[in-house]
Amino acid sequence: MSSRMLRRLDPSSDLELLAEVAQLLTQFDMQRVLGRVIRLIANAVGASRAHLFLHPNYELDWRNIFQTDRLDPDTIFTASVGGLDSGLPGLAVEERSGILVRDVMMDDRRYVFGSELRDAQSALAVPLICNQDLMAVLLLLHPKPEHFTDNHFRLVQIAMNQASVAVHNARLENHVRSGRHQFQAVLHAVNNPMLVLNREGQVQMMNAAAERYFAAAEIRLKLGRKLVDTVQDDTAFNRIIDIIATPPSGEDHWLFKAHSEQRNLHFDVLMSVWENPMQGESGFVVMMHDVTTLIELDRFKNDMLRMASHDLRSPLALITGYCDVIEMDLPPDMPQLLGYLEAVRRTTTRMDNLLTDLLRIERIQSSPLELYQPINVEAMLATIIENSLPGANQKQQQLLMDFHDLPEQIVADPIMIREAMENFVSNAVKYTPDAGQIIVRAFARGTAFYFVVEDNGVGIGEEHLPKLFTSFYRAKQAGTEHIDGTGVGLSLVKTVVERHQGKVWVESQVGIGSQFGFWLPLSS
Ligand code: ADP
Repeated sequence: MSSRMLRRLDPSSDLELLAEVAQLLTQFDMQRVLGRVIRLIANAVGASRAHLFLHPNYELDWRNIFQTDRLDPDTIFTASVGGLDSGLPGLAVEERSGILVRDVMMDDRRYVFGSELRDAQSALAVPLICNQDLMAVLLLLHPKPEHFTDNHFRLVQIAMNQASVAVHNARLENHVRSGRHQFQAVLHAVNNPMLVLNREGQVQMMNAAAERYFAAAEIRLKLGRKLVDTVQDDTAFNRIIDIIATPPSGEDHWLFKAHSEQRNLHFDVLMSVWENPMQGESGFVVMMHDVTTLIELDRFKNDMLRMASHDLRSPLALITGYCDVIEMDLPPDMPQLLGYLEAVRRTTTRMDNLLTDLLRIERIQSSPLELYQPINVEAMLATIIENSLPGANQKQQQLLMDFHDLPEQIVADPIMIREAMENFVSNAVKYTPDAGQIIVRAFARGTAFYFVVEDNGVGIGEEHLPKLFTSFYRAKQAGTEHIDGTGVGLSLVKTVVERHQGKVWVESQVGIGSQFGFWLPLSS
C-alpha cells in the first residue's frame, strides 16, 4: 500500500499536467501536438512505453491529423494503424472504456492479452473516443507489476478526453479545408469567368477564367480591390456594378445579357447573392457565360436562312417555270420524258416546302408574336374546319367536331395559333388512311383552353414520341414512306404554344391512332 502511495502523483502536478496538455491542444499543429501530449502523459505516469493503436476506419482522419510514418521513432512513443481487434487494446474497444492492468501475470483477463504486453508487467489502455467514434486506444506499459495506480488511470483518462476534443476540432478543420479545396477545384474547372464579391464589391475570389479575362483586357484586378474601381472601361460590367451599388430589393439573383464593347464579347450573366448569417457577411457571386460563339452562329444561321430564301428560291422558281415550258413543247409520244419532268417538279416542290418551313422557323423565333389579340374562338374553329375539309374529303375521311364549353374568346396571336391548330388537323389527315376518322375537340376546362385532334391513323411508335416536337424530326413509320414532309410543323406548334405559356402533348399507338393536343392559359 505504502509503495503505491509513493508512486502517486501529487494533485498539484496532476493539475499542472492537465493544464499543460490543455494548453498544448489549443495549438493548430496536431501533427506534433498529439505526439507531445502522449509523451507528456507517458512521462507523468512514469510509463516505460506508450503505443497508440489507430482505428483503421479513421485512417484518413489520422493521416490528416498526424502522419504515422513521419513520427520520430523514439523509445517511448510509437503509433500504428490496426491492432485493435485483439489483446488488451481489443478489450478496450469492446468495452469502450479504459482498462487498468495492475499485474499482467495475476490479471483475470491475461488469457486475451497478446504480444503487445511483451516485457510489461503492468499496463493502462485508454480509448480515444471522439464524437461517438472510437478512434484509437492508447496503451501505456511498465516492466514492473503494480506500477500504475487508480490515480494514474483517472489522469490518463482525463488527458485523453481533452485530446479527443482537440482531435475532433482537427477533424472538423480538415473537413472544412477539404471542402474549401473542392470548392476551389470546381471554381477553377469552370471555364467561364467567375467572381465572388463582398457587399462592397471587393473581389474575394476569382477563378482562372476570370484571371485570363482580366489579363487579356489589361485590367489589373487583384483580390481585395473594388470591381468598380478597376473595370469602368469594360461595358461588360456595367449592370454588375449597378446591382452592387443599388441591389434591387426583394431579389436574390439576376440573369441578364452583357456586352463588352471593348473586347466584342457577349455574356449571359448570372449574378446571385451569398450570405453567411453566422458572421453577418454577404455579397455576390458573378458567373459570366461567354455566348459570343453562339451569337455568331445564330447570326450565321440567319444569314444562311436569308440567303436560302432569296438565292435558292429564285432558281427553284426558274426550274418549275422551265418544266412548264418543256411540258408544253413536249411531243405527245414521249411519256417517259413527262415522267421525268414530273419527278423534277415534285423534288422542287419539296425543296420549296422545306425553304418555306425554314423561313417560318426563323420568323417565329425572331419576331415578336402578337400574343395579346382577342380571338373569337368559334369563328376560328369554323375556319380551321373549312380549310381542312377539302383534304379530308379527298381521302373520304370523316372529320368530326366536338366543341363544348367554348370560351367566348382567347387572347393570343391569331395567325400563329390558327396555323398550329391547322397543323394538327392536316397531320391527322395526312397520316390517316383513306376512309379514316378524325375528331377535332375544343373546350375550356378550369383556367385553360384545350384543342385536341384524334385520328385512327397509322399511329407512332413509342420510341419516337419524345422527339416528335423537335425540328426536322420525322417518325419513320412503316406505311408512311410515301408521305411528304419536312418534320418542322410540330416543332413550330410547340414553339408557338409555349410562347403563349401553354403546353403540347401527344399520345399514340401504332396501328390504332394518335391524339395531339395543346392547352393555352385563359386570361382571367
Ligand atoms: P411532317 O409532317 O412535315 O413530317 P411534323 O413536324 O408535322 O412534320 O410531324 C413530325 C412527324 O410526326 C411526322 O413526320 C410523322 O412521322 C409524325 N406525325 C405527326 N402527326 C401525326 C399523326 N397524326 N399520325 C401519325 N404520325 C404523325
